[in-house]
Amino acid sequence: MKIGIAASKGYAIGTVVLKEENELNIEERAVENVEAEKARFKKALEASKEQLLNIKEKAAKEMGADKAAVFESHAMLLEDPEFAGAVEMGIESNKINAEKALQDVVDMYAGIFAAMEDEYMRERGADVKDVGKRVLANLLGKISGDSDLMADNTVVVAHDLTPSDTAQLDKSKVVAFLTNIGGRTSHSAIMARTLEIPAVVGLQDITSSVKNGDTIVVDGIEGVAIVNPDVETIKKYEAKKEAFKKEREELKKLVSVKTVTKAGKRIEVAGNIGKPEDVHQVLANGGDGVGLFRTEFLYMDRDDMPGEEEQFESYKYAVEKMEGRPVVIRTLDIGGDKKLPYLPLPEEMNPFLGYRAIRICLDRKDIFKTQLRALLRASAFGNLKIMFPMIGSLEEFLKAKEILKECMEELKKEGKDFNENLETGIMVEIPAAAVCADELAKYVDFFSIGTNDLIQYTLAADRMNEKISYLYNPMHPAVLRLIKMTIEAAHKEGKWCGMCGEMAGDEKAIATLVEYGLDEFSMSASSMLKAKQLIMQN
Ligand code: PEP
Ligand code: MG
Repeated sequence: MKIGIAASKGYAIGTVVLKEENELNIEERAVENVEAEKARFKKALEASKEQLLNIKEKAAKEMGADKAAVFESHAMLLEDPEFAGAVEMGIESNKINAEKALQDVVDMYAGIFAAMEDEYMRERGADVKDVGKRVLANLLGKISGDSDLMADNTVVVAHDLTPSDTAQLDKSKVVAFLTNIGGRTSHSAIMARTLEIPAVVGLQDITSSVKNGDTIVVDGIEGVAIVNPDVETIKKYEAKKEAFKKEREELKKLVSVKTVTKAGKRIEVAGNIGKPEDVHQVLANGGDGVGLFRTEFLYMDRDDMPGEEEQFESYKYAVEKMEGRPVVIRTLDIGGDKKLPYLPLPEEMNPFLGYRAIRICLDRKDIFKTQLRALLRASAFGNLKIMFPMIGSLEEFLKAKEILKECMEELKKEGKDFNENLETGIMVEIPAAAVCADELAKYVDFFSIGTNDLIQYTLAADRMNEKISYLYNPMHPAVLRLIKMTIEAAHKEGKWCGMCGEMAGDEKAIATLVEYGLDEFSMSASSMLKAKQLIMQN
């Protein structure tokens, strides 16, 4: 049994698919039987070609023929007799294994492309490497990562999954995932909860403890994985899975119940979303609103910045579908573990303490204004509130508001509608903001406590680091005091205070948060009904 960190609830019994790592280890081996080695290479080559053509077909359907063309050109490279011939020659003349011969040829091709003047041709070097990696993975029996190649009941096992890897998992095939690294509040874990896929992270060496095709049990509640379980264990977990499903069904009865505490206070239970369509899950789970729309996901998995019009459509969709319920939309929170391929950020020693979120937006006014204009325009269609992330001082909030005002004036001149009185608030996720909450509360319309970051900054315990996850404690008195202070400061100024960090859905924390007077609890849609039930018991 492998023990890790429970990241997303639920049970799964499935088949391991190892996600291909960036670096596949190749060792040079001398081979006696050159013909057999060449045949092994041919087989991997054919398998790779077939996979690429399948991916091309799927991409053409989902993304259009132009995007699919790249896979065709990859497949064509594999058909190039010179490429295959060079590898076979390497095997034959050096009497080495196919992996090493392939790597030599790929390095040679990539080197030739890299030295070219023309930028387009230089980029082809990356294509050669990419194709080479696929053939190599086939040779090593480690092919995977393309969800289109996955069978039903797949458990993805990876060293790490980026937030965008997670967002791309095909829920109809992937029943769970497991990673070596990461913590409960790393974004891949948060995405798993949104997708309602059981997940265990921080398993340390799970990738080297399993192989493709192994049967595996995933327990997303206890945070364990069991490789090649015996029949008894499978039976036990099938029963647990069934009971879990039943409990979820039972909780469904609470969907349309208004959440009121024992003392009679009405509490808002809201959802955290990453894409506009996620509102449907929030509504299906009885959400009173959206407490956090992580807009950075609109910026991911693409080659360029989303423009004003496109963003406007996304925000408009979310507020319209929520039919007057509050929708708190957070401005771009990039940096930390969230990266954009087309916005290269400098390598930093401490990305979570660096150039991120509002710090980037105040610096890159062009990016910020595009988003603010889109948000303002969407505010004419529903109950939209704007929230700024990573605010550490009043000055930052005032600067952001100033830019927002500039956008309002521009839109007025252009005759475009927006809600002039829309609420603007901040995330309290830097301890400095919590400590100065009394001052900030005079200026903002609301606070939303971002405990994921607040805990890591208060306790100096990286939210992504499984080795020190025992220090990352939401119930630490220092964290609780900051939360209490923030709520009280908001109330003193007649403002509301919510929480959109994962702690809001933490079953062990809910009673304390109700006692402190938290007004709004925002969390992954899958945690909302259980939270409703617990809030009503307190
Ligand atoms: C937080 O920090 O608590 C939060 C909600 O933001 P994120 O997890 O996106 O950093
Ligand atoms: Mg945060």
